[in-house]
Amino acid sequence: MVKILAVTNQKGGVGKTTTSVNLAASLAATDKQVLLIDLDPQANATMGSGTNKLTVKHTVYQVLLGEISIESVRVNNLQAKYDLIPSNRELAGAEVEMVALPKRETRLKTELSKIENEYHYIIIDCPPALNLLTLNGLCAAHAVMIPMQCEYYALEGLSDLVNTIKKVRTKFNPKLRIEGLLRTMFDPRNILAQQVSDQLQQHFGNKVYRTVIPRNVRLAEAPGFGIPVLYHDRQSKGAQAYLELAKEVLNV
Ligand code: ADP
Ligand code: MG
Repeated sequence: MVKILAVTNQKGGVGKTTTSVNLAASLAATDKQVLLIDLDPQANATMGSGTNKLTVKHTVYQVLLGEISIESVRVNNLQAKYDLIPSNRELAGAEVEMVALPKRETRLKTELSKIENEYHYIIIDCPPALNLLTLNGLCAAHAVMIPMQCEYYALEGLSDLVNTIKKVRTKFNPKLRIEGLLRTMFDPRNILAQQVSDQLQQHFGNKVYRTVIPRNVRLAEAPGFGIPVLYHDRQSKGAQAYLELAKEVLNV
């Protein structure tokens, strides 16, 4: 059975893409069949997976508009052992162009249903907004992973996201659940980070992943080489943390 996970948080820079790419690679390293979908026009997950957003011909944009089939867009990432549905800046226009199309919220879900059985895990990297693209991600997903930095405003944004998820559940996807909150870029010496982390655990209990992703320079370097951190420096704290997260995801 496939598991489809949307990695989402409307805040930018919280580690969605880093988590999507490195979780995909870490799951693939355990011999699972994995598909990563880049739903962000910034295409950082595409670049971080070694596909050039400036030259890629077919993207998730054309799939959402119904111009080409999802199969023909897939890129096989041999080194990182997962498949990628790439994105590029064209996707920014999809927001407007999809409004007029029928079933605009569930277009990704419909397309994915054609190939989902080929995979154990499908990871969707969402854009930093609660927009129609994110909505497509949430409608296609079984569960949501929310990466967050443990800082003051993090909790504020969380309630908007939780409300959006509730609405999606009522209108489109009754089984959608929050699988977990992931603490990213964590610095244990930072007292505020520690306090916010404690608050998170009080509010969300076992919905908070045990694995904590530390701030680690190797994680920030790897996208520059177009590879997941696992193939950049496997011994780094960042690589080890995402391997640990993959184990936790496998055990759910
Ligand atoms: P988002 O997709 O939520 O916008 P990113 O994953 O792109 O966030 O992360 C934002 C920036 O922070 C990127 O430059 C990324 O390389 C860096 N980054 C993410 N996670 C870490 C980490 N754990 N340690 C160090 N840098 C990180
Ligand atoms: Mg991103």
